[in-house]
Amino acid sequence: NDKIRIGIAGHGNLGRGVEKAITQNLDMELIGIFTRRDPAHIQPLTAGVPVHALADVEKFRDGIDVMILCGGSKSDLPEQGPALAALFNTVDSFDTHAKIPGYFEAVDAAAKAGNNTAMIAIGWDPGLFSINRLYGEAVLPVGETYSFWGAGVSQGHSDALRRVPGVKSAVQYTVPLEKAMELARSGSRPQLTTREKHRRECYVVLAEGADAEAVRRAIVTMPDYFADYDTEVDFVSEDELKTQHSAMPHGGFVIRSGVSGSEVKQTLEFRLALGSNPEFTSSVLVAYARAVMRMRRMGDIGAKTAFDVAPGLLSPKSAADLRKELL
Ligand code: NAP
Repeated sequence: NDKIRIGIAGHGNLGRGVEKAITQNLDMELIGIFTRRDPAHIQPLTAGVPVHALADVEKFRDGIDVMILCGGSKSDLPEQGPALAALFNTVDSFDTHAKIPGYFEAVDAAAKAGNNTAMIAIGWDPGLFSINRLYGEAVLPVGETYSFWGAGVSQGHSDALRRVPGVKSAVQYTVPLEKAMELARSGSRPQLTTREKHRRECYVVLAEGADAEAVRRAIVTMPDYFADYDTEVDFVSEDELKTQHSAMPHGGFVIRSGVSGSEVKQTLEFRLALGSNPEFTSSVLVAYARAVMRMRRMGDIGAKTAFDVAPGLLSPKSAADLRKELL
């Protein structure tokens, strides 16, 4: 049995998604799930897979090739990323863009001390979008890069809505503006403001006795989150929020609009249309676990990002098969 032995650290949306993705990757085997909660209260989707306390994880060092970190970026990964990279080869989806350089340094030091390979900031953004921004810039050095997100649920903005007094529960969708995407594709290379690129749609359940107009005003004027956008607030019933707005779709576009030598317009576009953001992100994490395993075997230790991975390392196929079938 030479399957890649996988551990999952944290059993939320991504943790469950990784379980599902492993069933589609026949060269992998799920060894165990690790949680900070009482393991007896976790229901794995995979029959027979044990759930352990994360506090005991060190005991499993020899039995796991790659630990996939499924904690949240805000407060879980800053702690778990370096701690687990000291013990295991890891993959994570750290997505606080502004903090990636500092996170990289912390994980790099831990991974090198433990002689491990630690892949950070994997998923779609950061992740597949980042790679496409890089390809766009590298092949069309004269041009502009545009990233559009959505339509999809933004967890951070939904959380911000729930903190507004008078809001019982809420979901926020980020919606790219068609006109801005047309301009981005047109080759005119416009400078687009935040407000010109996306709008924000909020579905809000009011708390009992709350003043709808006051809640709406508090939302649309909220700095950082909503004030710089055209924001629409719709009040809905709790039932409607649950039945209409509990899926987690997302996606978006990376567009590079440039010119080659003689001012010829060239456009590169990458699109994702995701029925489930966490399930897709988990599928990306699992493919990168394969690359981590191979890079570790080649002695390439320390923290890595999507930019450091040769594409062929993601595939279960051999280099010869890839040349024959996909090149
Ligand atoms: P989540 O469901 O909130 O899970 C995060 C952690 O919270 C889990 O690991 C789990 O840890 C704990 N948890 C889950 N359900 C819980 C519950 N009912 N009660 C108490 N604790 C619970 O978050 P997620 O949707 O999996 O997303 C994780 C991170 O992925 C996000 O923070 C985001 O930054 C990142 N992400 C990245 C991308 C990308 O493209 N790079 C895309 C999507 C998401 P324990 O099992 O240890 O308790």
